[in-house]
Formats: sequence, C-alpha cells, structure tokens
Amino acid sequence: MNFADSEIVNAIMMEQGCKPAKSPEEAEIVFINTCSIRDNAERKVWDRLKYFRSVKKNKEGDFTVGVLGCMAERVREKFLEREKLVDLVVGPDAYREIPKLLMEVEDGRKAVNVILSQEETYADLAPVRVTGNGVTAFVSIMRGCDNMCAFCVVPFTRGRERSRPMESILHEIRQLSQEGYKEVTVLGQNVNSYNDNGTSFAELMYQASQVDPEMRIRFSTSHPKDFPDELLHVIAEQPNVCNYIHIPAQSGNTEVLERMRRPYTREQYLTLIDRMREIIPGVSLSTDIITGFCGETDEQHKDTVSLMKEVRYDLAYMFAYSERERTFAHRKFEDDVPEKVKKARLTEIINQQMDIQADINREEIGKRHLVLVEGTSKRSDDQLAGRTDTNKMVIFDRQDYQKGQYVEVLIKDANSATLFAEPIRVSSIAQFHEEPVTA
Ligand code: SAH
Ligand code: SF4
Repeated sequence: MNFADSEIVNAIMMEQGCKPAKSPEEAEIVFINTCSIRDNAERKVWDRLKYFRSVKKNKEGDFTVGVLGCMAERVREKFLEREKLVDLVVGPDAYREIPKLLMEVEDGRKAVNVILSQEETYADLAPVRVTGNGVTAFVSIMRGCDNMCAFCVVPFTRGRERSRPMESILHEIRQLSQEGYKEVTVLGQNVNSYNDNGTSFAELMYQASQVDPEMRIRFSTSHPKDFPDELLHVIAEQPNVCNYIHIPAQSGNTEVLERMRRPYTREQYLTLIDRMREIIPGVSLSTDIITGFCGETDEQHKDTVSLMKEVRYDLAYMFAYSERERTFAHRKFEDDVPEKVKKARLTEIINQQMDIQADINREEIGKRHLVLVEGTSKRSDDQLAGRTDTNKMVIFDRQDYQKGQYVEVLIKDANSATLFAEPIRVSSIAQFHEEPVTA
C-alpha cells in the first residue's frame, strides 16, 4: 500500500517540476513513507532518519526531510519536537497539500497536515512508477479500513474506508496495459467490501479482467468475513484473474478470533477454504498469522498450528503480536504473553510452514506453468525470475527470453521458497489455456 502511495506522491512532486534523485545524497528533498503496523516497522523508520541526519551533516545546500504515511499520523509531535531534522509531516490523506507545505518549510516553518478524509481516494492522480520493474504494478482501489480488528492500528492511521470509483480504476489499468505492463495487483485493506455506488468487488474484478486478456489481475487483501461466491467464480472463469487468494486467518482458535474482533469462527474459515478449493481447483492460498495475541494460551496456539497444517497454505506471513496504542486490545486487554513465548510460537509455526511449503512445492516438479518474467534473478545475471499464476517464484536460465514475456516452463526442482524450471517457449495466457503442451 505504501509502495502505491509513494507513486501518488511521485505524481504530485513531478507536477511541481521535481525529478527523482538516485540517492538521498543527491536529493534536495527526501520523503520517508512510513508504516505503523508493528513496532519493528516503526523502528526501521527511526534508524533511517538517523541516517538522513548524517547525510544532512555532510551536505551543502538544501536538504528537506519529510515524514509521510501512517507514522506521520501517529507520532507527529515526536517527529517535530524530538527529531529536529524533520521539516514536514504529512498523513496518508494529505498528499495533495505537499506543495503548499513545502512552501511553508521554505519560509522557515515546520509544516504538518495529518487530517484524515472521508472522501480522498486520489482517483484523478495518475501514479508515477519510478522504482518498479515495468511489468507488474499496484493499483489502489480503496483507502482506510472500518473493520477495527482489536490488534490493528490501520483504522486509526488511515481513517475511514472509502472506495475509488470503478471508472478511474479501469482507466488506470487501461493505461498500464498500453504502457506494456502485464500484471496488476489491486489493493485495499479489505477489497471484498469495495462498493462504488453499488458496484461490488466481484464486478470490478470482472470488468478489470476484460480490459486486456493478456494482463494478469491479482488482488489483496480479502477478509474471511464476507468472501462472496461470485468472486470465486470470476477467478475460476477468467483466465487472466490469477488463481491465488490471500485470506488472512490471524488465528486458528475461535475464542482468540473473537477477542481479535474477527467475526468468523475456525469452522467458518475452514468451510470458506473448502469452498475456494471446490470452485477453483488448484487455487493457491496464503495467510497472515499473529502469535501471542493477548490471553493466547498454549492450547489456543496449538489450534493455529493445526489450522495451518489442515489448510496447507502455499505461503504465510507470520508475526509476533506487537501492541499498538489506541487499538481496542491496547485499551481493553493486557499484552500478557511474554515476548519469549510469542517468539517461540512464531518459530514453531514458521518451521512447520517451511516444511509444508517445501512439500507443496516439490509436488510441482514435472508440471508446466506459465511464468510472467519480472526481471533478472537475484542469484545470477544468467537467470530470469518471474511468478506463476499461483504466485510462486520461478527461476530459469535466461537464454533468449526477456522481461515482460509469458514463458511456458517445466518445473524441475523446488525448495520451500522457489521453483526451478526449464523454459519451453514464449507463450500467452490465451495460448497456455487453449492448447497446453503435454509433458
Ligand atoms: N487489511 C489486511 C491486513 C493489513 S495488516 C487484512 O485484514 O488482512 C497486515 C497484517 O499485519 C495483518 O493481517 C496482521 O496479521 C498483521 N498485524 C496487524 N497488526 C498487528 C499487530 N499489532 N501485531 C502483529 N501483527 C499485526
Ligand atoms: Fe487492520 Fe483488520 Fe482493517 Fe486489516 S481488516 S487493516 S487487520 S483493522
């Protein structure tokens, strides 16, 4: 989400005649787009600011430092009072004000705007993608969140949920297709509650899939409380809507889910997973899990372990609970699971998940996939990296293949994170679905 937000800020700055600099050392203005989701995300920002302080010291000429995003909203006073380096603080709904705020800074004042909006979606601003790979892009379709999960700071830092009009989303996707992009991930905190004057997320996804049949469409994130069958059918029926769903469980224990204010039970969640697999055979699934939430007992943790074993996720993002100020959990519960226990539970689920992923990925050996090449592999310039429709990273020898191509590959080897393949031929979504070559 921050990646997408930074692209909106790029658009605003470039409209002012600014150009992207290669490094903070070369820049006159540096913005740091921040995240408050867990304490360690915030710690990284404080470290980065320390680094900017040293850049400023060694620099002649102007150096304006701005803090953008969720932390701006959450800890603005601390930035301005304690962190003398910071000149401006801008919350996630106030990016349009940046040029005006920069003028205040030029006048020698500190500038702040952290006002949250009920309407702002930046719908009319065309994001400028400077740091991407030119193949895959994020498109933000909603802002804010109304779900108020007990552990989560997002509703406080990003404000009320609002949907961007469908026409402006489709316009952006059309534009991306014309620019040669091959994959779009549409983003929202809970895309299932997308609502543009009655237009649902399933309808938006269907319309998005019709823009360009050779453009892959992904989405993130879905809340398990309101996942409609209609969306599962769009995924199953449209070849360019990827067979991959990120469906965070958070916990495998119904009482913990209740305390987390996640309105579904373990059983309802598992029924939803069955439904997904029934309507979309072979669908790839991922989750987010929190260990050591307030009051979580060993038994309750074991339910998370067993849920993950039962579902067998293709991928999981796992975190130790980090208490956030203002949240329901902070106000009502005690953060009573010792850090050591949180971490031990986290290690346990990570280890189990790595084993599951290694097994699942080994089952891919001998299968064919259509890989969208995103660029050179991190390991070697002689290899390319891309993802399958099911969101698995694949590496293969470069030969004459290129970034941005769809390549049909045969999987030869696998570990818990990556598939290794032999490329067969350049293909397309249509070709791969219509005339698959048999092994
Ligand atoms: N809107 C998305 C999640 C956004 S935050 C959703 O509801 O799925 C991404 C993930 O961070 C969450 O799913 C949760 O697993 C984790 N997270 C959020 N708050 C956290 C906290 N206080 N401590 C630890 N992890 C947290
Ligand atoms: Fe946070 Fe819950 Fe909203 Fe996700 S749905 S952003 S976890 S409050």
